[in-house]
Amino acid sequence: MTESFTPPPAAGCRDTPVLKERGQREVFCGLTGIIWLHRKMQDAFFLVVGSRTCAHLLQSAAGVMIFAEPRFGTAILEEGDLAGLADAQEELEREVERLLDRRPDIRQLFLVGSCPSEVIKLDLSRAAERLTQRHAPRVRVLNYSGSGIETTFTEGEDACLASMVPVLPETDRRQLMLVGALPDVVEDQALDLLEKLGVGPVTVLPAARASDQVAVGPNTVVALTQPFLGETLSALERRGARHLAAPFPFGEEGTTAWLRAVAQEFGVSEERLEEVTAAPRARARRAVAQAAETLNRRSLFFFPDSQLEIPLARFLTRECGMEAVEVGAPYINKQVVAPDLDLLAEGPVISEGQDVDLQLDRCRAARPDLTVCGLGLANPLEAEGLTTKWAIELVFTPVHFYEQAGDLAGLFSRPIRRHDLLKLEAAE
Ligand code: SF4
Repeated sequence: MTESFTPPPAAGCRDTPVLKERGQREVFCGLTGIIWLHRKMQDAFFLVVGSRTCAHLLQSAAGVMIFAEPRFGTAILEEGDLAGLADAQEELEREVERLLDRRPDIRQLFLVGSCPSEVIKLDLSRAAERLTQRHAPRVRVLNYSGSGIETTFTEGEDACLASMVPVLPETDRRQLMLVGALPDVVEDQALDLLEKLGVGPVTVLPAARASDQVAVGPNTVVALTQPFLGETLSALERRGARHLAAPFPFGEEGTTAWLRAVAQEFGVSEERLEEVTAAPRARARRAVAQAAETLNRRSLFFFPDSQLEIPLARFLTRECGMEAVEVGAPYINKQVVAPDLDLLAEGPVISEGQDVDLQLDRCRAARPDLTVCGLGLANPLEAEGLTTKWAIELVFTPVHFYEQAGDLAGLFSRPIRRHDLLKLEAAE
């Protein structure tokens, strides 16, 4: 029998009343997801239909990609285009035709909507349908919204993957589907563990290429690897797939619990699970223990940002000894995060949505040792002497499964260590 590192709490947070706030919020928009999605989907192109602001956001967020063959771009609509909406629709379709002529390597094209009213009035789904009819089977054109009015930054991935589900082929085969865009090295580790457990066939959404056959049907069991994929999950359920509820694979405990849920579903024995996971679990524990020396007994405050907050709070409190004061998430989908809430000991405020001024007041009153928040809040809080961690790094850094558990803990311990050193220097 594989023992848990820490026994589950007597009372978890599943039934803790959620503090719901609906006010001004400080988060990136869903366009940000293009930065990691375009790396994952190697024959996809993301055409943002937006303003100069959107183009600037993408360029600065993706600055490192400047020398690579671009696989995203912005079709900029000026204010004047509003006058001729029909023209704008035709111009967009002409722009796509030019792009597809120039770039025969593109197999999937996403038209990504944004905020300006002239964009919202365009019918991107009609454009996608018409363009697909013209270019199928070589290119599939889909659309989704990355608008900051409708999406926070991780919801962009959710909207993108959800747009793919209705066009997936149907299958009856019994299979496990991993859902979430993980860095290749992490995805390979997950697939390797599943293969060693004897779980298969395994399919992954999103696949690296459009030609990789990803199909769905009533015998598909879905294991999410990211907690922000609620819309995609609903779309897969509408296609007959079944959700496998589990804590998310962050840290040693989360990874083992996630694998155990899969193992039980596919009839793998506890002994086999122990055999396959014993060595990587020990490595993960050792790696986490190093960072935990810094994190132990430190207080923690999450502003809502990535939807990773609840699973990460579970990891940081249970495996690193931190004490959560508030765990804020932009949106709490209990179907998805209930297993993590069960493991998070009751105590912290669980908040959903944001009223940023009220939340800042709570944070200032608590003066936590570490505040996890977006870039816009980090600088002012640092100026007030609080130590912060930028939430966006969590989606750009490999943090899932055993081999990344130490790096995940390190992301949180480094700012605290730096703060401690500065304090020490100032005191000398
Ligand atoms: S918030 Fe809206 S306007 Fe600003 S970059 Fe995002 S989609 Fe474009």
